[in-house]
Amino acid sequence: MIGIYGGTFDPVHYGHLRTALEVREKLALDTLRFVPCKKPVHRGEPAVTAEKRLELLQIAIADTPELTVDCCELEREGPSFMVDTLRHIRKEIGESRPLVLIVGMDAFLGLPSWSRWTELFELAHIAVMMRPGWQCDVPSELAEQISERIAGELAELSSADAGKVCFVEVTQLEISATEIRNLVRAGADSRYLLPDTVREMIIKENLYR
Ligand code: ATP
Repeated sequence: MIGIYGGTFDPVHYGHLRTALEVREKLALDTLRFVPCKKPVHRGEPAVTAEKRLELLQIAIADTPELTVDCCELEREGPSFMVDTLRHIRKEIGESRPLVLIVGMDAFLGLPSWSRWTELFELAHIAVMMRPGWQCDVPSELAEQISERIAGELAELSSADAGKVCFVEVTQLEISATEIRNLVRAGADSRYLLPDTVREMIIKENLYR
């Protein structure tokens, strides 16, 4: 099984890295691919270029072979729609290999606003990470779509290529990229919120100032 963890990663931090590692272990994924978006659909322009966000991600996971980066969205023009990304990855890995889209609870609750969102279930399973501060008040059109799809056991995901939804509890780290950007901008210390290698590159290249 392959896990897909999309995001802006502006910059990547321990909230992303720790949850990715835990989801990979709990779902017994062969690999987990971070997929940085080129042009986010639901938010403003990132603070640094896509190439730089990619570089920071690559540095962050350099010593963790089970975590990888897939830059397919950076090679595509236009907005980064997840449905196009999953279709692209499906073509690469074939029809029968289970694919799991990993999203935070906040992203999951907003799923009905994603482009062609109901097609996501034809392409991948969805694993929802429980993130701090979010309660499970699922909008009715989403509840309707997932009611028949919820997996009782995480192991169920490996028995189909796509279409199931599961909830994965992860260690709650209240860290956000927004907070890190604000700290850097204010000249404050961002140590222990993100890997030192990432922080050092941010300082060296004067990013987020
Ligand atoms: P920003 O503060 O710029 O909005 P972010 O820190 O929320 O950024 P994103 O790149 O937008 O990071 O998030 C990508 C994915 O990672 C989303 O699915 C989001 O829910 C999840 N995520 C981000 N931070 C955490 C965290 N601290 N714990 C668990 N999941 C997280």
